[in-house]
Amino acid sequence: MNLTGLHHITAIASDPKQNVDFYTRMLGLRFVKKSVNQDDPGTYHLYYGDYAATPGTILTFFPWPGTRRGRAGHGQAYATAFSIPFGSVDFWTQRIIQSNIPSQPAVERFGETVLTLFDPDGLRLELVATKEADLREPAPAKDIPREHAIRGFHGSTLALRHDQATRSLLTATMGYRAVGRAGDRVRYTVGPGGPGTYVDLLVDPSLPAGLNGAGTIHHVAFRTADDRTQLNAHSELSEQGLGVSPIIDRAYFKSIYYREPGGVLFEIATDTPGFAIDEPVESLGQSLSLPPRLEPFRREIEAALPALV
Ligand code: ZN
Repeated sequence: MNLTGLHHITAIASDPKQNVDFYTRMLGLRFVKKSVNQDDPGTYHLYYGDYAATPGTILTFFPWPGTRRGRAGHGQAYATAFSIPFGSVDFWTQRIIQSNIPSQPAVERFGETVLTLFDPDGLRLELVATKEADLREPAPAKDIPREHAIRGFHGSTLALRHDQATRSLLTATMGYRAVGRAGDRVRYTVGPGGPGTYVDLLVDPSLPAGLNGAGTIHHVAFRTADDRTQLNAHSELSEQGLGVSPIIDRAYFKSIYYREPGGVLFEIATDTPGFAIDEPVESLGQSLSLPPRLEPFRREIEAALPALV
């Protein structure tokens, strides 16, 4: 299978305005796409990323106002890690303290410092100060110097009750390889390796079973180049007897979905055509983007959505 890393990660939030504020102002990500949930067009689908909305930097949310909080645990993508430069630990530590963001003490993992913080819905985020080169271009942010800015994803940690079947899927079918073990955590990478490719499998018996809701991850999407490589991936997954969805056109990418044996929903999304298909890179995220089938209902949809600023 021809995967090159993470494509996007999608989470559930409650208040959309609070969500935009946290990810753009606090974390300095770029608001790269304002769209609607294609299965529920009365609610937003919000996308954040680097300047050019590069796959591997895209965190997306379904914000449902008033939705109950979930619980992070087994059977879920438990933590979402971003890559920050190696020398940026002090900057982000200060910023988290000054902004009163819920956080945990820094830990060392695989020789790198990891800062853990929580978004307004309690979603577990990590900032990994990586020694590896990360050349992704961050979005310019008012009060975050470029040398400290988030570059994109570092990786995703899946919490599992048992990791054997998931490990086998990752390595035998999806092309991942193990690159390190630390306690109850094993790290895997794919393709070129480096920030944006990592998947950690965490078997921590003290964690509860995960419950979906605000502040939890809905699914993790892996990237593949194009329609042809995706079709190959679809065949390989089907041959393994995994229930895999038909190919779904998501306008900015095409997607297939399947549930890995540990319970986490996986997606494989194409790099093409990308987020600049319906608006120029310079003005990404500024107007409401709708898939063609919803375009005739733009006025009604816009009227029903809450304001974001
Ligand atoms: Zn997705």
